[in-house]
Amino acid sequence: MALVTSSAAISHVGKIRSNNQDSGFAGQSLFAVADGMGGHAGGDVASALAITRLREIDGEYGSAVDAEFALQEAIVAANAILAETVFEHPELTGMGTTLSALVRVGHSVALAHIGDSRVYRFRDGALTQITADHTFVQRLVDSGRITAEEAKTHPRRSVLMRVLGDVDSTPDVDLQVMDTRPGDRWLICSDGLTGVVDNDHISEALASEMSPAEVVSDLVKQALDGGAPDNVTIVVVDISSSFDEQGVEPVTVGSASKPVAFEGSLGKRVSRIPGLRLHQRGPSDPSHFEPESEDYLDELIEENRRRSRRRKAAWLAGLLVVVLALAATAFIGYQWTQTRYYVGAVDGKVAIYHGVQQTVGPIALSEVYQVTKISVDDLPMYTQEQVSDTINADSVDAARDIVKRLGEAVETTPAPTPTPSPAPAAAPAAADAPAAPVG
Ligand code: MN
Repeated sequence: MALVTSSAAISHVGKIRSNNQDSGFAGQSLFAVADGMGGHAGGDVASALAITRLREIDGEYGSAVDAEFALQEAIVAANAILAETVFEHPELTGMGTTLSALVRVGHSVALAHIGDSRVYRFRDGALTQITADHTFVQRLVDSGRITAEEAKTHPRRSVLMRVLGDVDSTPDVDLQVMDTRPGDRWLICSDGLTGVVDNDHISEALASEMSPAEVVSDLVKQALDGGAPDNVTIVVVDISSSFDEQGVEPVTVGSASKPVAFEGSLGKRVSRIPGLRLHQRGPSDPSHFEPESEDYLDELIEENRRRSRRRKAAWLAGLLVVVLALAATAFIGYQWTQTRYYVGAVDGKVAIYHGVQQTVGPIALSEVYQVTKISVDDLPMYTQEQVSDTINADSVDAARDIVKRLGEAVETTPAPTPTPSPAPAAAPAAADAPAAPVG
């Protein structure tokens, strides 16, 4: 019994981009995704050229190593085609594409990968990312400078360190051979999926009983529900064992599926590019482009450092302003308290205090200014309460006036004969007096 594949491919422009720069392919043994890019040039041209060249190697192989070699050759050829096209059309300078592909040979798969599209294997309920992103942020993660979590929101997360394009004549492609077995589900996708749909949801879709066609539609729908800021391209390949090997109709999706497919001679291909550019060029995405040299990495790291230094400086300046404002407020407040006086008690004696009664934490905002000879106990009850509650004064003279009045109150209390106060009451009593004897 031989292993067979059943597969599906889908590509969607997404909700924000005006054109689809992704391309995808699902054939007899070859499955691939390419995500094109270019500042002012055509990412759609780049991914279409790469997939169109690569799909020529779809077919049967004697061994996975043969397939791996075919992949490598086709990718080097695709890279050369991109360079030639840019040479003929300098306005396309800077275009490039990611490429992630697998060729299934018996119980093995040969994998080739460059860029930030991804290959995952779903086996026994577990999703494993097989490829490593060739991105600037992945380098930062690998070198321990940022966490994987920080990478997800890093402003430079789309910057690629390695792509196919016109820069390097020998592209640095990751190649490997792995085993595969019945029940395996392989997923190849562009970052338009993984940037929006998390691994748990991808796992859930792959774990379902859905056919490859249903899985790719479900995942595209999830990406669209998540806003789909980028083109989304997904290829799903199921491995199963079967007696009957039925022929597979190869499927090309995305920009490589357009009638402007670059088949035939280079002359013919080149002649059609300007038309493609005219009606398909969308707004460029300056954050998604390929690095021009190794210096570029240093430049980006330096830029990142500058940004974090600026953030730190701005933060410190802000903190300084707040601290100064608080200090000024506290100082002005304290100055004001030192213009105030009040009268209260200390050790049973009436005293004048300098400051205000309140405390700030353990700090008292007043001190005893002068202790008088007046005993609080000698004061009339109502006055005693006033003193224990303290009596505010605007100045030291005002405080002394209060003390003076308190002193007068004391002088009258030693003779608290009922005479002075009952005296006014005596008048009505006297008025009533004549009546009393009558009664
Ligand atoms: Mn993309």
